[in-house]
Amino acid sequence: MGFSGFKVIKEALTGHRGWQPLWRDAAPKPQYDVIIVGGGGHGLATAYYLAKHHGVKNIAVLEKGWIGGGNVGRNTTIVRSNYLLDGNQPFYELSLRLWEGLEQDINFNAMVSQRGVLNLYHSDAQRDAYRRRGNAMRMHGTDSELLDAEQVREMYPFLNFEHARFPIRGGLLQRRGGTVRHDAVAWGYARAADRLGVDIIQNCEVEDFRIEQGAVVGVQTNRGYIGASKVGVAVAGHSSHVMRKAGIELPIESHVLQAFVSEGLKPVIPGVITFGAGHFYLSQSDKGGLVFGGDIDGYNSYASRGNLPVLEDVCEGGMALMPMLGRARLLRMWGGVMDMSMDGSPYIDRTGLPGLFFNGGWCYGGFKATPASGWCFAHLLATGQSHPTAAAYRLDRFQSGGMIDEKGQGAQPNLH
Ligand SMILES: Cc1cc2nc3c(=O)[nH]c(=O)nc-3n(C[C@H](O)[C@H](O)[C@H](O)COP(=O)(O)OP(=O)(O)OC[C@H]3O[C@@H](n4cnc5c(N)ncnc54)[C@H](O)[C@@H]3O)c2cc1C
Repeated sequence: MGFSGFKVIKEALTGHRGWQPLWRDAAPKPQYDVIIVGGGGHGLATAYYLAKHHGVKNIAVLEKGWIGGGNVGRNTTIVRSNYLLDGNQPFYELSLRLWEGLEQDINFNAMVSQRGVLNLYHSDAQRDAYRRRGNAMRMHGTDSELLDAEQVREMYPFLNFEHARFPIRGGLLQRRGGTVRHDAVAWGYARAADRLGVDIIQNCEVEDFRIEQGAVVGVQTNRGYIGASKVGVAVAGHSSHVMRKAGIELPIESHVLQAFVSEGLKPVIPGVITFGAGHFYLSQSDKGGLVFGGDIDGYNSYASRGNLPVLEDVCEGGMALMPMLGRARLLRMWGGVMDMSMDGSPYIDRTGLPGLFFNGGWCYGGFKATPASGWCFAHLLATGQSHPTAAAYRLDRFQSGGMIDEKGQGAQPNLH
């Protein structure tokens, strides 16, 4: 089933009875060339690029729940490539370029909206740090603009510029950053992968790995044993306990991150804004809800719901930045389980077990990475070699001194 303006009009005129399911309800086969564990954005993108660019024909994505039920459908939808460090910046720029062509590539409206991401600064020292980051971005061919307070005021006149403790002095703007409708990304990749023959198998939980003569040869699931020449794990917040079944301890902790959505309002926030003096970020969805979030809950958990002290903390940040937010009613909130790494950067790597590959440690920034993560993980699975832009995302980087500590927080997963 192709999407086109003609099809939309035809369906509107005929009662929408001609739409088909976006992907087949595939039953597991006994053996695959590649199994991807986890049907989130990263797993689905990996399967798609493996089939499309590496000619792998026999692929399954095993998802314990339903497509779109994990973090890919729980995030605050922000995409950007405004990173400082060499290990990160080219990777996130690759991702943003893939976002820019994604809808045409997969023929699916993911509502990619390059409405601009503005990081506010509140002191001279913070301005200098942002200037440095902006220059690093430009050296990698990425757009960035350092704005002063008046330029920010022109874009967002209602912000609290004269806050007694955190006056707004300016911001670092990436115009090509923005938002993408998160669940449409999962559906779009699933549909595109399915069309290339990938089996997407929902309600199929991987319970164990079968290891023979020191190599992974398949997975045990709640729907029986499934063999594979290669297994790639992309289970985000569930990375630690899934990989432990293969005897692998990961440098990852799982924490809850919450998201909040207000009642629908008329358009007021044209882009994405982040508060530089606390952890608070905000955009407005196309349905009108103000979508915002802040810090992780700060304790280890696998629960997809958060607690009230963080809600209070996030709202304090919001009120400091934009006092009129206090007039809006909060409509919905939810949590997702984050795979927080030791330095805040991800892993796309082989493991010590032949046949087993790992993708994770995305912390709370993995949505924007979805296309590049799939692109690079597919490259690794197909060729056995790291993709050049993801070469720094090694599991052993803490032994070799190759940390990618974007925030400079040290080995404190809850602070990244
Ligand atoms: C509240 C919130 C806000 C966020 N905001 C942003 C943002 O604005 N920008 C940004 O870039 N990132 C953001 N993120 C982070 C981003 O959502 C994640 O880093 C990213 O989605 C993780 O990759 P994924 O999509 O593959 O994960 P998921 O969608 O979680 O996919 C993993 C899948 O693995 C499945 N699974 C787990 N165990 C098994 C098993 N044993 N067998 C089979 N399947 C299994 C799960 O059911 C799940 O569907 C946010 C996250 C949250 C929770």
